[in-house]
Amino acid sequence: MQVKILKGTNQIGGVFTEISSKEAQIIIDFGDDLDDLKRLETINGLTIGAPAYDGVFITHNHQDHMGRIDDILDGVPVYMSDLSRKIYETVFCFSKNKGKIHRQTINLEEGKPVTIKDMRITPYIVDHSAYNSFMLLIEAEGKKILHTGDFRNHGYKGTLLVNTLKKIGKIDLLITEGTTFSRGQLKSKTEQELVYDIAQKTKKYDQVLMLMSTTNIDRVTTMQKVANITGKTVIHDIVLSNVLQLVTQKIPNALNSKKVGVYLPGNVYIKKDNEEYKKYIEPFQERINKTGELLHGKFIMNIRVSMLNDIERLKESVLNNCCVVYSMWEGYQKEEIYKKFLDRIKELNIDIYNLHVSGHADYTAFNQIIEITNPNAVIPMHTENKEKIKDFTDKAVILEDMETFEF
Ligand SMILES: [Zn+2]
Ligand SMILES: [Zn+2]
Repeated sequence: MQVKILKGTNQIGGVFTEISSKEAQIIIDFGDDLDDLKRLETINGLTIGAPAYDGVFITHNHQDHMGRIDDILDGVPVYMSDLSRKIYETVFCFSKNKGKIHRQTINLEEGKPVTIKDMRITPYIVDHSAYNSFMLLIEAEGKKILHTGDFRNHGYKGTLLVNTLKKIGKIDLLITEGTTFSRGQLKSKTEQELVYDIAQKTKKYDQVLMLMSTTNIDRVTTMQKVANITGKTVIHDIVLSNVLQLVTQKIPNALNSKKVGVYLPGNVYIKKDNEEYKKYIEPFQERINKTGELLHGKFIMNIRVSMLNDIERLKESVLNNCCVVYSMWEGYQKEEIYKKFLDRIKELNIDIYNLHVSGHADYTAFNQIIEITNPNAVIPMHTENKEKIKDFTDKAVILEDMETFEF
């Protein structure tokens, strides 16, 4: 078999991997670079020329793994979880640059293998900051490759990792993400520990605004737990209220609990009376109307940087003892839009706390995966410090982009 990391041996994000057996050739993930969302990739047989690949498999709905799927030739089937796709499309439906995915995708389901010629690809649910993320087991020619995608063991699904790896057993090759290799070798806090941190820091405030990813469902659970501990009402913005209708676990939300509010930001790009309005806003209208009252009590609410105008307006009426919890990767703070947002929050005399846990594997997760699957070779990717893998295994294979590993 042959493995080629087309992109991702020297960077986090924008990853894609090619795996070939005697008969089949697939790509795993096709994402945007974190630094330049519009860079065009032309790959023969994938984006130009005659279709040459048997399939593209998307591990999860983060932009750096799926951002380029509309560039894939029509003749190349794309496999992705329907649920992940729906969550992605729901979030983007509310934005100015509507991010609808145009091409068709075939549903990928936990534990259900896809067979392509002599290759079998099985997705396994894995703990990550995107809902319904998969690891992929690729089997062909009597060999097994495990491609981790993005993963961790410290979220609410963290204990799943060991069970899944035991099910998979011994493998020949591990292709692993290494995001945290350049971020110091610390044991990550768990989401549960984050609950106590946020509760402790925010209990003295009456209004808590959580700047977080709308698709980070673990963090929504964390927000609910903080509210329970600190005696606050939970308010979800309209985007999150819709996303929560899609996830299968029972997180209290506007349509299954009378206690949760819904905030409708001023800049929602959905016009009244069209289909999207009926689908995404009307079901919540009654609750939106009642949320005005909730804003006068103690509450915790998710926010996005695009809600700056709303925060300025609320500051004039209800935000009199307020803090913002920045609950995302700190690296985003270098981006202009986040800088501008946080500067303005400071100007408004609102306190800011950085309280976050990573969506990526820490050293305990790398140790677990290598010990349980006992691979003969380990290729690191989705990393800015690939040599670091040698701290975990003497079977490291260090590749450059476009270099082939054959085994
Ligand atoms: Zn990623
Ligand atoms: Zn990710």
